[in-house]
Amino acid sequence: MTVTAYIGMGANLGDAQATLLAATKEISVLPGVANAKLSPLYRSAPVDAGGPDYINGVLQVSTTMQPETLLRALQAIENGHGRQRPYRHAPRTLDLDLLLFGREVRNTDFLTLPHPRMHERAFVLMPLRDLAPGMMLAQGSLEELLAACPDQLLSRI
Ligand code: AMP
Repeated sequence: MTVTAYIGMGANLGDAQATLLAATKEISVLPGVANAKLSPLYRSAPVDAGGPDYINGVLQVSTTMQPETLLRALQAIENGHGRQRPYRHAPRTLDLDLLLFGREVRNTDFLTLPHPRMHERAFVLMPLRDLAPGMMLAQGSLEELLAACPDQLLSRI
């Protein structure tokens, strides 16, 4: 069975935009993944920390994988980029979150679906709206949820 999944992507170290594009390519060639479609990318200031701006986007894919298998593959891709960390305790160069996996619901230590914090993050909801305007989450429409987000200051890059 083929399912549509949405992956949240973020980076704030090094060439963050290049990292997201590289991760997109790596995800799109995973066995069992097809039709990868990347949202526009957005820039936002870190919420309660200094440091470089974040670049965020959402990747839509069709997949025949199980959600746990996809998350494990995403973690391997994160680790591949994490190994390039320039110094100990450096912020991570790549964060990949499994936001939605069809209508699957999970509540295990390894995987929570839908992602438990996606509905309160403009840097997730805005690129998700670009890919899937009119989408409804359990908490409301993307428009309603975006209006209630504390982090509104995002520029499209
Ligand atoms: P983080 O460091 O914020 O990327 O969180 C990674 C941890 O969250 C890992 O232990 C994952 O197994 C767990 N996790 C639970 N649900 C999800 C999800 N939907 N997407 C990504 N990681 C998840």
